[in-house]
Order: sequence, then structure tokens, then C-alpha cells
Amino acid sequence: MSSGLPGKTAPRLLQDLLTYDPRHEERAGRNLLTTAPPHYNPDPAAPRSPAVPNRNCRHVFLNKSEQSKPPRHGEDAAHDTVYKVAAFCSKCLWHLDLTVDFRDNGNRSTPCRPGTDFALHHFQYRPDPEEEARGSPVDRPHERNHSFSCSAPKCPVDVHIRLTPPRFDDQDIVLLTDRAVLRKRWEAAKQLGGDRADATMARPVDALDFLSTYLLDSLNPVKGKSRIPLMNRKFLRTFGKDCDSILKRLGFTNTVELEDDGSSADVWYLPKVGPLAHPLDSVPSPTNILYDARYELVTIISRYPEHERTGVRHDPTIPQPAMNDLEMALGCLAYSKTQGRGAPRNASYEEDHPYYAGLGAVGDFSDALLMFAYSRQVAVDMDNTPYYFECLQDLSIGRASAELQTKVALLASNGQTNRREIAKAYRHFGIEPRHANTINEDHIIGSFRSRLSDESHNMVEETRKQLRIIGSARNSQRILDEASDAIETYEQALSYLGMDIDQTDDFIPTMYTVKVGDNAGSVQTARKAVKIIAEARNSQRLRDFLANGLMPSAEMEVGEAYALLNIGNRTEKIDMEVLKNQLDLQAADNPESSAKYEQAFQLVQQDQAQNYNNYSNDTSAPYSTRHPLQTWPVGCKNIGNTCYLNSVLQFLFTVKPLREMVLNCDTHLQETTPEALSAKKNVGRSKVTAEQVDKARHFVLELRKLFEHMISAPTYTVKPEINLAGLALTKSDEPDSQQVSEESIRLGLGEIGGIPVSGPALPPQDAFVGKELPTPADSVMGDEDANGDTDSMEAMDFSAPATDLDTTNTTKPEPPSRPPPVPPRPQTSNEPTIKKIEFRARQQDASEIMQNIFDLLSCAVVGTGVMRDDEQRDLIKDLFFSDVTTVRKTQSIQRIPELMDTFIVSPGLRDRPLYSCLDDDFGLDTEDDKATARYRYIDVASPIQIINVKRAIYEKGTSAKDESHIKLDKVLYLDRYLNKTMSLSEDELQQRREKQWKLQARLKLAGERQKVLRLEESPEMTMSLPEVVEETAIMIDNISEQQATEQDGSGDSAILDYHQLTADMRTRANELQKELKGIDGQMTMLEQEVDSIFEDCRDYPYRLHAVFMHRGSAGGGHYWIYIYDFQENIWRKYNDEAVDEVDEDEILRKENNNPATSTAIVYVRDDRVRDFTEAVCRKPSLEPSHDIEMRDVIAPDPEYKDFEIIDGVEQE
Ligand SMILES: [Zn+2]
Ligand SMILES: [Zn+2]
Repeated sequence: MSSGLPGKTAPRLLQDLLTYDPRHEERAGRNLLTTAPPHYNPDPAAPRSPAVPNRNCRHVFLNKSEQSKPPRHGEDAAHDTVYKVAAFCSKCLWHLDLTVDFRDNGNRSTPCRPGTDFALHHFQYRPDPEEEARGSPVDRPHERNHSFSCSAPKCPVDVHIRLTPPRFDDQDIVLLTDRAVLRKRWEAAKQLGGDRADATMARPVDALDFLSTYLLDSLNPVKGKSRIPLMNRKFLRTFGKDCDSILKRLGFTNTVELEDDGSSADVWYLPKVGPLAHPLDSVPSPTNILYDARYELVTIISRYPEHERTGVRHDPTIPQPAMNDLEMALGCLAYSKTQGRGAPRNASYEEDHPYYAGLGAVGDFSDALLMFAYSRQVAVDMDNTPYYFECLQDLSIGRASAELQTKVALLASNGQTNRREIAKAYRHFGIEPRHANTINEDHIIGSFRSRLSDESHNMVEETRKQLRIIGSARNSQRILDEASDAIETYEQALSYLGMDIDQTDDFIPTMYTVKVGDNAGSVQTARKAVKIIAEARNSQRLRDFLANGLMPSAEMEVGEAYALLNIGNRTEKIDMEVLKNQLDLQAADNPESSAKYEQAFQLVQQDQAQNYNNYSNDTSAPYSTRHPLQTWPVGCKNIGNTCYLNSVLQFLFTVKPLREMVLNCDTHLQETTPEALSAKKNVGRSKVTAEQVDKARHFVLELRKLFEHMISAPTYTVKPEINLAGLALTKSDEPDSQQVSEESIRLGLGEIGGIPVSGPALPPQDAFVGKELPTPADSVMGDEDANGDTDSMEAMDFSAPATDLDTTNTTKPEPPSRPPPVPPRPQTSNEPTIKKIEFRARQQDASEIMQNIFDLLSCAVVGTGVMRDDEQRDLIKDLFFSDVTTVRKTQSIQRIPELMDTFIVSPGLRDRPLYSCLDDDFGLDTEDDKATARYRYIDVASPIQIINVKRAIYEKGTSAKDESHIKLDKVLYLDRYLNKTMSLSEDELQQRREKQWKLQARLKLAGERQKVLRLEESPEMTMSLPEVVEETAIMIDNISEQQATEQDGSGDSAILDYHQLTADMRTRANELQKELKGIDGQMTMLEQEVDSIFEDCRDYPYRLHAVFMHRGSAGGGHYWIYIYDFQENIWRKYNDEAVDEVDEDEILRKENNNPATSTAIVYVRDDRVRDFTEAVCRKPSLEPSHDIEMRDVIAPDPEYKDFEIIDGVEQE
């Protein structure tokens, strides 16, 4: 049958039919009967709406037997069978015609039936273009026609469902039963009939009863009973003249006749009955309508309390429930049910878990039927297989059914994946899963290939796996082919076998066996990999292995390997940590033979694994023993309030050209002689003085010392010098600081709960010596006013007004990202530097530290040229500074160029992608005067982009931290922020930009309207505006009904006005509901459009390199940094002295409670990542040095004990 549409098994269709209320389609947001339920989002934070709107009628269908042609028990359907169940709902009075048509329309001749492979019908909706074209009149209830076909390949069954509104609408019922109306009618009857009028008004039940009697008479004609004179007393007061339209609609006719006495009389005749429509006719006959009308009348009469219907002529006989016939007709009277669950189809308002509906199943299905439902859904709607699998998986867990779980596991082992896995796979390639549909195969394959070249072998296998998942999810052979182990290069071959480039041939047989053992189908690929490696290494041994499956003896014997590593006994399990220590020591002792030791290490490792089942357990080992010294970056001890500084230093160290410049700074340093400085040397737009250069040189020399230690320390950590910290935290244009003793440093530093306090938040030293530290939350980041008196002295000192601002700057707007240069200030105190450091850290926005260091570096080195505004060109500018143009538009357009080393974005108190934040920073904005519009673009983008995130916000006078999550892409395309790209001209880019602005403006408006309609400003309201209006209408109705009952007979006309009012309100509620729905859809569309504008702009990829993190309040907390190692393709977390490998997920995920938040993000141009970054630069030296320390010495090795310094510093 038609594919791509999910279906419903017969019991589900019936279940949905019982809750589908044509009156409230709007409220459900979908047609419960014909559409598949929305995919369930298991995230507890996801918005929930009831599967069935609360006010939907839970139909109780009763048989209209005279109009039905139900199956009989034990009867089998033949090729020409058509069943029909005609019924009406005793609650909402809607009529149901359900036909089940077995007539063969081809070679489908095997209807589904229990006990076969197709135990139940599985119905797919067959949209009827005519029905859809007819549309739905909003003002009145109208008929619904829906057709379904069974999806089983051999089953001929079609089902047609017709729902018809009651023959009497609300207004009819008011006309017939409303007491106020009846009173008026009685008054009119008295006027008209005089004496012949009745003495009392009609009861509400009378008109219903009379009409029902008339209809019965007309359906069972008795001679002489077909004529009703209008002037009949009872008729006059009950129907008067204002029910004519109802009567006529039912087929009553009226004429004027001459009476015997010569007078003329108005007379009604009962409808004349014809035959009933054939059960399969699509249009009811007038007689069917009479039957329907009677069913309704009888039902309504029965709702009146006994005492209000005394004397009615016909005791209503209630028809039989239709459920049995419906189940029989749909072939689901007796299906295999699970134990311990009640019938799902009852009036209780408890719905099955949405996953059941997702599978088109119901909650009482047996496990086997659940599998059947799953397989049917997958067969008809393969695209959504992952969702159905997720449904099945979760239900199997929920049911705790071992049998079902086994089947699910089997599916999983055959490669079936669920939505979550697919979402993860897309994210692996930096694709937002919800955009997956808009992204084509080329893009996915492209990003796969670009990754392949960069990743380590275990990552490549993972990446292939993720691509395979996407390939199967999209059912794309091309992607699957790409993901398959097509091996062409040496690197791919190694990667396929899971080998490092420096692993010897000896490992290949093992890796080969593992590979083939995992998957017997991969023999060919594995052999190809070995062959490629054999050729690349020109290894006869490998060729022999391929030829006869045996590896000739190794170049190094295992015994030799044990010996090399000083392990005497090779016949028992050895401690893998000891083994690693041995490797480190031997390799450090004999650096020239480190490859040999590595080989020995691997041989021993393999031997241990094979013969003693002894695997090293990296994760449980202390970090210091995990990696040989020369392969791992050193940590930086926190010398107090400097964890942010440590992050910056670690980051700068990984910027290879910068590190090399610092290490070789002798050849770059700026002379301070007047001649040397006579040339123009501007940094940060101000002239650099000899004092500044002196101080900057001092800083660079300190930095060199640190970098050298970071490279050569025979330890896992180093300690930055206090002088370095002092210089880094003091502005480049401030006088040099004084040296301080380590003693005073210790006094001023501290930890809270073991976590070093970050820059902000410490009061001056004197204030807290010998006292408890204040908690960080008490103080305020970057807001010295809040710290009040304690800081006032120094605050005044450092915030003294500028005295010699460069006057040439006054005509320019201030650079948005950097404060104006601060002139030198007089030194006013002899405070120890550490106090300044603390104060600096407290005073400065964390990002300023990096900018300060950039300025220091620029001041310290000789420029390589001069840039705009006489700014010195140097390595710092080349690496970090982009040339940015701000376009301001008032009367005229002004373009202001400037050099910027960082962009500053604000999350804006909501989780969103980095692009969205940057769009705000670059996008169209108005300045404070409201008249000036401006935006920015990058003319020349620096290869390293630093994006600072503004986390401090001010709310009601106090500072707080914006903890929103910024979603990072591993690749950032800068195209949309440029002036032009390789693919797009200035104009084309500008056009897209303007399109984006327009959409953003519309999005903003829609967002505001949505807020109003959702009543978001009133968080105490749980309903939306349309719901409030509707609820109010219902309330008014209830009140007026109550009043009407209480004031029975008093004929208060105000009741009628309420009807009008509530009708109007309902209409309005409907309109609002539609509007809200429209806006929701519109916003989703707009967001997608915004996203898609620059979707194809991918000329300028930048790779995520580092993320500065902060956890804690605005007043304090802790900083660390994640840095990506593009050589090893791993992420590391540099957390002061600890440097550990971490999963990428840790960097990208969103945390919920007291979340770690990014404070700065660094991207590096894709084609330069390996030139410009290098995370590991180690050459551990054996020479002790006075300021290097050792921690975590675990190996009880006598040689280490020779380093006196190790104990000395650590125990100080
Ligand atoms: Zn109903
Ligand atoms: Zn079927």
C-alpha cells in the first residue's frame, strides 16, 4: 500500500475512533483518527500535552441495528463481503457509520486474521482529496469521512468511517426544550388560541416526547394518525409556530385545510417513509434520518430526571452497545492480550503510554502483537524506523519482558538504531539532528572525509560507525558505502586495524584476528588493510603472513622486551603501572632509543594480555601514571587566585608560533634605547614608553622561563612564578611591580572547599589574616563598588581618571570590545605585589588578562611592520587580530575599521548556539540614540579567533551570572561574518545578511505575540489565553444553566444573552487558538529559515581549539580550560595541576545544576590547526631546577629519589 504513512492496528484505530471528537479537532492540534501521534519526546523537560484533549467525548456507541449489517459469529468474510456497523454515541449523539469492505480490488484475497502472519489489520489512512477540498465549515458541525486501507500485502480490506453530527443541533434543542422559549411560546399560544390554549406551559421533555411519538408513528404508519392540527392545544404550546424549520427538515408537511365547519385550519402531516438506504449507500435516506432523530430524542429524554418525564408516551428502550459489532467487523474481537492489563478501551481517561500509539498498538497487546505492530510500522514507514525501534525498546524495558527484550537485542545487533543514537551520530558530524532533513548526502560525506584525515585510529572507527548509523537511518547506500571500510591509504589501513603508526608489524596478526573475529564479513577488508601496510612498510614478514597465515619470528623477542624493561619474571602477571613506569624511566634515560622501549613495552603488554589476561586499566590509574612524561602536557600549580591565569598560560603555550617566539625571544626583544624607540611603536593605539617596554620585556622573560619549565620539567606539574603572575595581571602601561616573598603570597591565598578561589572576591590581605575566608558568593565579580570600603583605597588608586587620553581618538567611536588605552598611573604604594595581583584579578574582567598579555607581548617585541593608525604589526596581531569594519548608518553611511583581538558575545539568558550569539554581536542593531543603525563584518579574519562570553549580568543592582548554555559547533564557519567570501560577493553576502535581519525581526515580533498568547508574563497561569477564554465561556454557561434551573418558569430573557456571549467567546477562543498555533509554526519555520540562509556558506571553516570554563557564582568560582590536541585528536582538561584526557561530550554538553559555563571560546582556521597549535611540547630534562616540583611520585624507583628537589619543594 502507500508507503511513508504510519499505520494503526485495528484495535488502535478503534481506540482512536472512541476518543476522536470532530468537535475538538482544533484542540488536539491534529486529527486523532487519521494522523499518527507526534513522536514522543522522553526528555522530562519536554512540553507535555494530553494525548486526548480532556473535553473530547469518550464515545459510547450504541447500535442502530436496522441500519447495520454486522458480521455474524463464526462467519468468514467472502470476496464480496461488506460489513457495516451503524451506531450513535449516547453521549455526544454523533452518528457513526463504519464499513469494512472485503471486496477484492486485485489479487488481494487473504484478509488478515488471528493465527496467521498478519494477525490484525494494520490500517493506513487514505486521504480523500474530495473530502479535503471540501474543507471544514467553521461555524457548524459537519460530517467527516475517512478511509483506511489495510497495509498487509494480501489483505483486501478497506475501512470507511463516517461521523455525522446529531440531526438536532444545539439551537434545535434550545428551541424545543428551553424553558424561557417554552414560556414565550405558551404566551403566544394564549394570544393565538385564546380559550383553546392550554392552562400550563409545556415541559422541556414534551416537545422531545411528542416529536419522538410522531416519528414513531410515521415509521409505523397507522391509519388516521398522520394528521396534526396546528390548533391542537398541546401542539400549539409545545411547538407553536417557531419550530417549523425543524419539522420541515424532518419531512413534516403543512397545509391549510377546510374544516367540516367551513373554517380553515393549519394542519401538519407526518413524514412519509420510504425504504432505508442500503447499508453501503453513502447518503442516508430520509427514513434513516427519521430513525437517527428518534435515537437522539429518546436519548435526550432519558437524560431528564424521572420526575420531569412522568407520563411520556414511550419508555425509551436503550439500544445495544455497538462495541462487539465494531470489534468483529474490524477483526479484533479476540486478539492475543498480555496478562494483567485491563481492557484499554474503556471510558477511563488513562491513556496508553505514547509509545504504544507510536507503534499503532494498544497497551494490552501481547508481546508478539507488539512485535507485529512494530514490524508493520517499519514496513510502511521505514524512514521512522529509529523511532519505532525506540518505542519497542522502551516498552520492552517497561514491560520487563525477557522475550521482548531478547528480540529487541537481536534487532539492535543487526544494526537497528533508535532516534537517540541517530541524533548522536548527526551531532558527531556537527549536524543538529533537527536539521538533518535539510542537509544533503554530499555535506555529510564531505564532513566525514574532512574528519577522517584528522582523527586518531580509534576515533576514525567511531566516526565510521556514526556514519553507518546515519547511512542506515537515511537508507542511503551512498553514505553506507562511504562508511564501509573502504581502505585506500596506509593511514586508513592502520586506522582500520586499530593500530598506531609506530606499532610494529608484530601486532598486526593480533589486530587482524580481532578484526575478523568481531565480524567475519570483514576478512576481505582486513586482508586489504594488511596488504597496504605490508607495501607501505615494505615488510616481507607481513606478506608472508598474508600468504600463509603465519608470521615469521619477530624482530624483537618477547623475552628481550621483558629484559629491556627490567622485568625479571615473565611467567606471571605483572603490575601494568610498574611496567609503564619502567617504560618512562628507561625512555627518559635513553631518549635516543625510546622507540625501542616503546616496542618492548607494547610487546610485553600484548604478551600479558594474551597469556595472563592482564589488561592495563587506564581509567583507574592515577593520571600521573597514565602517560609517559614526554607525551603529556604539564599542569600549572595554582599560586593563588590564578586559575584563570593558568588557563590563559596553558592556552598560550599551545599556540605554537607564539610559544616559539617566546622561547626565542632574545632575537625579537625590543631595545629600549631612545634610538630604538624613536621609530613609531604604538600598541593598543598609544605610544609605547621605554618603561612599558622594560616591563613587557621582563614579562616575556618570565614567560620564557615558565615555558621552558613546562617543556623540560621531569615532573607532572610546574609552578608559575609569582613575578609572572604579577606582571600578567598588571597593565602593560603600569610601572613594574616589586618583588615579593613567597611568604606573603601564601598569606594572601586560599582555597574554599579545596577549590582555589578564582580571581575575584578576596578582601585585602590584612583583613582576613587569621580569619575565615569569606564565601565567594558574598562578593561581586568586577564590581568594586559592591565590595565597598575595604577596597576603596586601591579602587581609587587604579580607577583614577585618565589624564592623557590620546586626543586623536576622540573623533572615533569607542571600540566595542576593548576599553580605551589607560595611561600610566603614578605608583602610590609599596604594597606587596600579591595584593595587587589579587586586586587585579578582582578588578579585571577575566578576558582582560589575555588582552593584557597580548599588549605586553607586543610591547616587548620588535614590530615587523606598521599597520593602520601606526599600530605595530607583530606576531600577536598576525595570529589574533582581525580587521573589523563597523558600518554605522545615520543620514550617511560611515565605515569604521578597527583591529580586534576578540569578539564578545552574550548568551542573553537563553540556551542557544554560538552562531546565534555571534549573529547578535555582528547583526543589525541600533545604538542608544535609536537613530543610528549599525552592524559589523570582518574584512580580514585572524587565523585564531577568540570569542569571549559575557557571563556577568546585572539584575536589580546586583550582579549575577548568565548560566545559559552556548552550544558549540566543532567547526565554525566564519563566512557569514565576512565582507565577502570565495563563493559570495560583497553584494550577495549583504543580501543574505539583510534577509537574515528581516527574518530575525519577524521572529522577534512573533516571539512577543506568542508570549502574550501563552500568557507567559503571568507565570501563575497554566493555561494559554484561548484556553482561558474558552474556560470562562464554559463557566458562564454553567452559571446561566444553574440560574435557568433555579428560576424555572420566571422567564428571564437574560439567559438568551448569555448564549450569545458565550458563543462569541468560543468563536474568539477558536480564533486565538488558531493564531497561537499559527505563530508556533511560523516561528519554527522562521528559525529554520534563519539557519538555512548561511547553510551553504562553508568556505572558511575554523576548528574548535579551546574552551575556557568557569563554574561558580558571579562572585567567585573556579576556572579551567579544555584544549584540543590536533596531533593526537583528543581533548584535555587543564585544571590547574591536573591535565587529563576527557570526552568531547564533556565540552559540548549542557549541565543543569550549577553548570560549568564557557567564558571564552577559541577557534583556529581549519587549514592551519596543525601549524598553529601543538598541545604537547615536552622534553623532560633530568637536570633539577630550583623551581620545579614533583608530585604524585608513585613508582618506588630509587633513581627518582636522587632528585633532592622533589621533596624539598613539595614539603615546604
Ligand atoms: Zn460521543
Ligand atoms: Zn488486513
